[in-house]
Amino acid sequence: MKIDFESLRERMLSLIEGRGVRDPRVLEAFRRVPRELFVDPQSAALAYEDRPLSIGFGQTISQPYLVAFMAEALRLRGSEKVLEIGTGSGYQTAILSCLSQRVCTIEIEPELSKRARGTLGSLGIGNVSFRVGDGARGWPEEAPFDRVVAAAAFETAPRELLEELGAGGWFLGPLGVRGRQELVRIVRTEDGFDRIALMPVLFVPARTR
Ligand code: SAH
Repeated sequence: MKIDFESLRERMLSLIEGRGVRDPRVLEAFRRVPRELFVDPQSAALAYEDRPLSIGFGQTISQPYLVAFMAEALRLRGSEKVLEIGTGSGYQTAILSCLSQRVCTIEIEPELSKRARGTLGSLGIGNVSFRVGDGARGWPEEAPFDRVVAAAAFETAPRELLEELGAGGWFLGPLGVRGRQELVRIVRTEDGFDRIALMPVLFVPARTR
């Protein structure tokens, strides 16, 4: 039986909107990116459920609402350069690429990076650069960034990542240990960093090399 992904996508959008995400650019990005291409083919039917799904290597594609909440919380206007830690399936990368000028994304698992590169390539997305490595070390050649967003939890915000924020730039990501993580926004101000916890979350822990 052929699955009607378009109606499933619309249903996901109503759910995300119902939970409070209102930024029209974010909703449009969710309408444009076919989530079913980012999950295992066997899970395609579940692609639009509001839950994380396995993408192999013990990793998951984040739940759509959380990706939407984070995309909105980044308040992207289209001119920003974004660093993403944890490419995973590349779904969040694709959403961010619709909302910003350029996305630089780092993934520690080479095979996931390669697959994500293929998926985004097949969608004709051209404003993304991929790198394999430990995201905690940042991407000095591409810094500074207007936003740094992490999709895996660090215990504390890596110093290198905060250093790579431009003036007025933000870090957004889960921080803390398993069971006690919070989604945190850290804004680089003239005289330091301002930190706000947005909500409790559960992400995979970041790996170290
Ligand atoms: N946003 C992704 C989900 C990512 S899950 C999506 O939409 O699919 C978190 C990802 O972070 C996993 O792919 C994991 O391999 C990667 N990761 C974990 N630790 C990392 C690190 N230190 N540096 C870069 N990537 C890391």
